[in-house]
Amino acid sequence: MSASSSSAAGVPTVKLLINGEFVESATHEWRDIVNPATQEVLARVPFSTPDEVNAAVRAAQDAFAQWKSTPIGTRARIMLKYQALIREHMPNIAKILTAEQGKTLPDAEGDIFRGLEVVEHAASIGTLQLGEFAENVAGGVDTYTLRQPIGVCAGITPFNFPAMIPLWMFPMALVCGNTFVLKPSEQDPLSTMALVQLALEAGVPRGVLNVVHGGKDVVDALCTHELIKAVSFVGSTAVGTHVYKLASEHGKRVQSMMGAKNHAVVLPDANREQTLNALVGAGFGAAGQRCMATSVVVLVGKSAEWLPELVERAKLLKVNAGTEPKTDVGPVVSKAAKERILSLIAKGVEEGAKLELDGRGVQVPGYEQGNFIGPTIFSGVTTDMTVYGTEIFGPVLVVVNVATLDDAIALVNRNPFGNGVGLFTQSGAQARKFQSEIDVGQVGINIPIPVPVPFFSFTGSRGSKLGDLGPYGKQVVQFYTQTKTVTARWFDDDAASHGVNTTISL
Ligand code: NAD
Repeated sequence: MSASSSSAAGVPTVKLLINGEFVESATHEWRDIVNPATQEVLARVPFSTPDEVNAAVRAAQDAFAQWKSTPIGTRARIMLKYQALIREHMPNIAKILTAEQGKTLPDAEGDIFRGLEVVEHAASIGTLQLGEFAENVAGGVDTYTLRQPIGVCAGITPFNFPAMIPLWMFPMALVCGNTFVLKPSEQDPLSTMALVQLALEAGVPRGVLNVVHGGKDVVDALCTHELIKAVSFVGSTAVGTHVYKLASEHGKRVQSMMGAKNHAVVLPDANREQTLNALVGAGFGAAGQRCMATSVVVLVGKSAEWLPELVERAKLLKVNAGTEPKTDVGPVVSKAAKERILSLIAKGVEEGAKLELDGRGVQVPGYEQGNFIGPTIFSGVTTDMTVYGTEIFGPVLVVVNVATLDDAIALVNRNPFGNGVGLFTQSGAQARKFQSEIDVGQVGINIPIPVPVPFFSFTGSRGSKLGDLGPYGKQVVQFYTQTKTVTARWFDDDAASHGVNTTISL
């Protein structure tokens, strides 16, 4: 059986992956996966039963015994094959991703590509998982560390990057010698499942990677399961905080990457053309549903004069289905998401922000049922307004004015979130001050969406991250391994014995 197959009613059902087999869930609780541009029901996803979650975790635990002692080179070669398969199937997976999530086809390929880069990096595990060695720490004594896998790890992923974020997790966990249970977003699991199927084709053995589906109940079952050693979460701050607390209480190591309100600080000396293009692209690309989307523009001093031009450029963006050529802004993921965003826009108006560009009435011929919202810009926004304090997660930019760089830094550092920030300037001195004083995980200097490449790690501060180690890169190798420190002495048979020593020295 493949990752999805047609049910009697003709709508495909998404399968669980347990012990190397794609299986139909026995649950009575299902959810439709809906194309956000057309409302077509693409498939149905199950909410796994407790027995199914348990079976997936036990399969992962059973597979761990053999997988942890599989040679590093064997694990790395599976990743080499996996990256080749992802490359080969990228256009097809992008189509699935656009159909279920809404983003444009080129952006869907970007989503897969940023995950593919992590798979490529995972193939270099031979050097990433090295321990340390100190010779002769005492007479004839050496100390060294082993970085060993920890066991069954779980991953819980959001809807907005159904390719990249699962690929942040299981490839690195697996190459470190762990086994994995993935719980993809219930809103768009089809592209994730296509990637999981390719992982099996690449040679991931039975039970090493498992998938369950569902919502809160399944997540809670993973966070509390006695056999799970580590939980990786990416999603909203409310859910991530719950996951962090629950899984920590149950003795797991946890990394929670959470919500955002990313500011772009514009100094008057910035390159005007490049900056305005960057703001519009990062504010409205993927309909603002990126955790690193720009959502607040901070115009410093005289750059306040750039507002009309920002609005004019945003007006030029083409709102359409993600499959249509030249689309800039696709639909938001669901009708519920659209309603929530519309109510936040209404709140902004009610609270006195000035609606410079109103995307609420946008019509898309041929896709009248789509969840479209056009680019929307508020000016005159103050920090007490709901549109400033809340993560809108839609194509809405709010513009705040401040007098100086110091004011901008203080503003950003007072915001509850600390995921990403951009500074636009031609001044190295101002940029250096900014990078030093700002309390945000990802800092872009003339880069609007500074997602680190996989040799570094994704990070975050304050309301955007809990746990110290971030996804991918060197940090995740630490997260997915435990250190064992060995202190060893070897005796020559003819070495003189100095008798019993009762002091603590070696
Ligand atoms: P979400 O928090 O609603 O869902 C994330 C996961 O948690 C899903 O798998 C979902 O099934 C599960 N979940 C939902 N409600 C739950 C509950 N009550 N208890 C337990 N589990 C629950 O997030 P989303 O809407 O899918 O994704 C958007 C959010 O993710 C935004 O806040 C965005 O900023 C954030 N995000 C953060 C990063 C990052 O790296 N910091 C990256 C991408 C997305």
